[in-house]
Order: sequence, then structure tokens, then C-alpha cells
Amino acid sequence: MCQAGEDYAEPAPREPPPAPRPGRAQKCVKCKEGLPVVVIRAGDAFCRDCFKALYVHKFRAMLGKNRLIFPGEKVLLAWSGGPSSSSMVWQVLEGLSQDSAKRLRFVPGVVYVDEGAACGRSPEDRAKTLAEVKAVLQNVGFPWHAVALEEVFGLPPSVLQCSAQEPAGTEGAYKSAVDSFLQQQHVLGREQPHQSQTQASLGPCSLAGSPTATQTAALCRLFDSVRTLTAKEELLQTLRTHLILHVARAHGYSKVMTGDSCTRLAIKLMTNLALGRGAFLAWDTGFSDERHGDVVVVRPMRDHTLKEVAFYNHLFAVPSVFTPAIDTKAPEKASIHRLMEAFILRLQSQFPSTISTVYRTSEKLVKAPREDCAASPSGPRCLLCLCTLDVDTADSATAFGAQTSRLSQTLLSTPPAEAGTPTGPGCMAGEGQACCKTACRREDVQAQVLEQLCYGCRVNMKDLGLGHAGDPGVSDR
Ligand SMILES: [Zn+2]
Ligand SMILES: [Zn+2]
Repeated sequence: MCQAGEDYAEPAPREPPPAPRPGRAQKCVKCKEGLPVVVIRAGDAFCRDCFKALYVHKFRAMLGKNRLIFPGEKVLLAWSGGPSSSSMVWQVLEGLSQDSAKRLRFVPGVVYVDEGAACGRSPEDRAKTLAEVKAVLQNVGFPWHAVALEEVFGLPPSVLQCSAQEPAGTEGAYKSAVDSFLQQQHVLGREQPHQSQTQASLGPCSLAGSPTATQTAALCRLFDSVRTLTAKEELLQTLRTHLILHVARAHGYSKVMTGDSCTRLAIKLMTNLALGRGAFLAWDTGFSDERHGDVVVVRPMRDHTLKEVAFYNHLFAVPSVFTPAIDTKAPEKASIHRLMEAFILRLQSQFPSTISTVYRTSEKLVKAPREDCAASPSGPRCLLCLCTLDVDTADSATAFGAQTSRLSQTLLSTPPAEAGTPTGPGCMAGEGQACCKTACRREDVQAQVLEQLCYGCRVNMKDLGLGHAGDPGVSDR
């Protein structure tokens, strides 16, 4: 079992789905004629054509009912190489080659993040995977961006700020955008916009900038210093998200699509609940995530189960690339993520409505900030995940407040890292003279960073063996 990350990846299929053995008289439940090749639920046997129609319809309906993607808008597809995001890229590819009435109208690009350094892979292995990745991307023909996770070290500090710019997206705005797009199409006559777009922008927009050996070593050290696999997975997800959003901004994409299936989202919902991120479930698992302001993350595969994805990819030969993930071969109890995944999948195998029940719950969650924050939607945000802060210092009388302050105590009592760490501003010690205030300074910085984090990120920070956040070179093991 392998899981290539929570955000946009899917576990690799263990084996091709078994072809159902159709009973003698059984026919497709939809057309009553075709030979059934796929059984989604017990009793629901579909022929190849009807299954494809259902699968495509789910994808289009998810985009259609939410009306978030404007015609002509640049959309970045976050592709991990895994089955679910591969299927998503395929849906977009097919959707763009439809005849005019059904054609998707946005302008796609693909981003791939090479996470090899976080997973301790050798440069040779990474190069091999990257070659496979490029072959698939060149075949797809969309503009693409392959970036290495090491590039997070070069990100501007502005990635940690929520852009003040509100995402466009009122119902009226959508209608007028569609109208003007159609008018434009009319003027252009019968020209195929899809072709002209992709022809002009074929090929990569950016190659994987080979990270320097120093950067790779720094990233390895950073991940080595994290004490638990749970914290590693969270850290990886945070870094990956910031990197993808940066690529989106740098190239003018206003939407990012991730391939989270409903299976993955059900697991993520339960995992995040356990991680203390209950306040943000609607953002973390909903159809759209507007927390970053200018770039909105959407999850169009959220109606597809992993089983459907596996069947579809198998039947229609959707290419994917296997990449070992950070928890590949990790035992079931190695992290909260792995444990929850195993728990949900096992429950699902015994009670087939488990995932849909959890998923339906996630659909009902509403994005409502705390009452006292509701007045100012631009209130303080978590420095790492950019959610509206759910921690209130005035809360200290409550159990929650007490817990967080105990957490701060634990964090602050971590022994400071070895000498040679940069002294804080205002330190009066001379060169070569140990600064008596270094420890105090570090505590100040730690406390200041902590104050800027949500509860979930604070808990996670506890397992990051860092002197303080943002210094990847320090390991206090
Ligand atoms: Zn049929
Ligand atoms: Zn946070």
C-alpha cells in the first residue's frame, strides 16, 4: 500500500481490479443490453459505454453545479502521477476534445512535484521517475511545470500571506463570463479554440530545475529531523501546497485542481479530525478551498471512489506513473494518516457504505469562522496552513486554552540547538563570545511563531525537531 500524499495523490492500486464475472442472464443495469464489465456496488453492473458515460457525467456535473471555473480561465492540474489525478488529467483532455456544446472551456496546465528528496530517494531513481513523468506529460500535450520540492527554499515569504484579492466568483459574474466567451467564440467563427490554444503552448513551460546538492541535503535534513511520520506527512503536504500555489501564481493560473477522490477525502476528513483540524474540515475536504485568496483549489474528483478510478483507468488505459511516497512500506500504525487509511478501507470492505457516509457528512460542512472572527474575514491566519486562527489566547481558562499553553511550555522547554546558531537582533555579545541570551531569544522566536499557528499546526510543530520554524539546517536529535 502506498500513499503519495494527502493533497492531490492517491494510493497506487494494489492490483488491476478484477473483472466481474457476469451471471448468465445479467445485462447492464443502464442500457439493459450491454455486457456488464464493471460492478460498482452489489447489483449495479455496467457495460463499458455506460460506465464511461457515468464517470464522465460525474466529473462534468461536479464542475457544472459549482460554477467556479470560468470560461477561458487558466487552471493548473496538480498531478502526482497517481491513479486519481491521472484520471482527472484524462477527463480534462477528453473534455477539451468534445464537440462544441460539451467542450470544457478552461485552459489547463499541469504541475508535477518531485518529492524524491523527502522520501530519501537516490538521484538516479528520481531521474528515472522524472523521465517517465515527462514522457506522459509530453503525450498529454498541455503546458506543464515539473518542480522539485527543494524549490520551497526559494519561495518568497509572501506565500505565507493570504492574498487580499478576493477570488472572482459570483453567480452573476459567471453568467456574464460565459456570455462574453460565447460571443467571442461566435466572432471567431468555427475555429477550434482548443487546438489553437494547445498548439501555441505545447511543451513544458518550465523544466524541473535541478535542485542543487546543498538544497537536497537541506531538505533531507529537514525531514530527518522530524520525529514522527505523522508530522512528516503534514510537513510534506504544507510544503507541497505552497509550492503548487507559487507555480500557479507565477504562471497566471487562478484555479488549482487536485485529484482527491471521495475515498481519499473520507480518509482525510477522519485524519484531520484526529489531527486537531476539525475547525477547517470544510476547507480541507470541500469542493473548493478559498483560503489563499487569489488562487482557489478545487477538487472535481470528489464524487469518484477509488474503485471507480481504478476500473476506469484500467478499462481506458489511462497512463499513470508510480512514485514511492513518504509512507511507502510504512507499517499500518506508523502515522495517523496510515492508520486512518487502513481503518477506513477495512471498514469499507465490510460495510460498503462507510466511505459514502463519511463523504456525505463532509458535503454538509459549512465554512463558518468563529463567531468573533466573522466580522473580519481577513482576521489573523495560521502562518503555515493559512486558515483563520482557531486559537484564542483569551481562552486560557478553558481546557482548550490550558492544553495549548501546556503545549507551548513543552515546546519552549526543548533544549536549544548547538552553539553557532544565529543570535537574535539586539544581542550584545561580541564575536566569538557565546551569547547568554541566545536561548532566551530562541524561546522568544518560538513563542512568536507558535502564536501565529492554528491548533493543528501547533501540535504538529511539536514533532518538528526544529529549533524554530524556517531553519531547515537545525537538527536537535
Ligand atoms: Zn450499458
Ligand atoms: Zn495551521
